[in-house]
Amino acid sequence: MLSSMNDICNLVNIDSDSKAILIGRNFEVDGFCKRNIRIITHAHADHVIGLNKSIMYSKHIVSTPATYELVSELGYVNNSLKPVYRTKSILLDYFNRIDFDGEILEFYPVEHIIGSTQVRVLTDNYVIGYTSDFKLTKNTFIMKDLDVLIIEATYGDPVWRRPFKNDVIEYAIDILNEGLKKYGRVVVYGYYGKLQEFMKIIRDRGIDTPFLMNDKIYSITRIVEKYGWRIGNFYRLTFNTKYFDKYIVFEHMNKAKYRRIEGSVMNFVLTGREFEEPVRKIDEYTWLIALSDHADFDELINYVEISQPKLVIIDNSRDGYPYSLARELEKRGWKAIVMPP
Ligand SMILES: [Zn+2]
Repeated sequence: MLSSMNDICNLVNIDSDSKAILIGRNFEVDGFCKRNIRIITHAHADHVIGLNKSIMYSKHIVSTPATYELVSELGYVNNSLKPVYRTKSILLDYFNRIDFDGEILEFYPVEHIIGSTQVRVLTDNYVIGYTSDFKLTKNTFIMKDLDVLIIEATYGDPVWRRPFKNDVIEYAIDILNEGLKKYGRVVVYGYYGKLQEFMKIIRDRGIDTPFLMNDKIYSITRIVEKYGWRIGNFYRLTFNTKYFDKYIVFEHMNKAKYRRIEGSVMNFVLTGREFEEPVRKIDEYTWLIALSDHADFDELINYVEISQPKLVIIDNSRDGYPYSLARELEKRGWKAIVMPP
């Protein structure tokens, strides 16, 4: 049982400046705050904040093996610190645990980007879990028996619901096939990680059309293959396309504004910020695809209701609607605190 709020306040905090989630005595998660152990939940920019400082200051940096490789590939570590990063890194797999100074750290799988993990810490007779960013699918392990659940709140308001979320892939694949038939070429724009997720969706649907991509997207795709995603048949942009009658090009979201809209290709833009329709045509040759890596409002509530924590702490240091989520949870009988206030 929670003996007092004071105990919890000593064991969990979220620092507004560094955005570090502080758990127990040793751990700083996704931000730098002069703790012994830095945890990286996944390789998105808002979760590697202050990483170079942590590499200098902390005794160890803990992440999953895939996140370790992605963090290096995406250039988050200064070149001069790469040897230290290597030496201090501890790679922890899902469902494994490690003891730091009497505090137990465990990782649990979650659907977000490849390598993403949830964190569970057992300390001073309390069990504290942090979801980090997540989407609620069968691949997300729901942590139970928690005294405290720390949760993200990106879409924490009831207006952010995607009743159509199960239909997105069907629509997208139909339009993709139509685009390939009509133009022979489809260009997909999205962020690192989400592009690879879409590649996997396409392959899972039995479409083996060649993929072309720049060097960076190529390297990330090789990493996701190494960790078990079957992509195959992908090439660097410099590969001679005369051998292909049809192909799909993957480009970073930054290039979407320069896309061709003169009738030679069909464009796909992968976005998490679409709540009206599963797919939407924005010009004659471009479709927005509502492919999100974050739980919508209903999924956030479902996680809490299945997890049944004694207290919910909602992260207010990153984007989202923490106060709406706290209000909605309280309406449903949960005790919820927004941190930092
Ligand atoms: Zn993320």
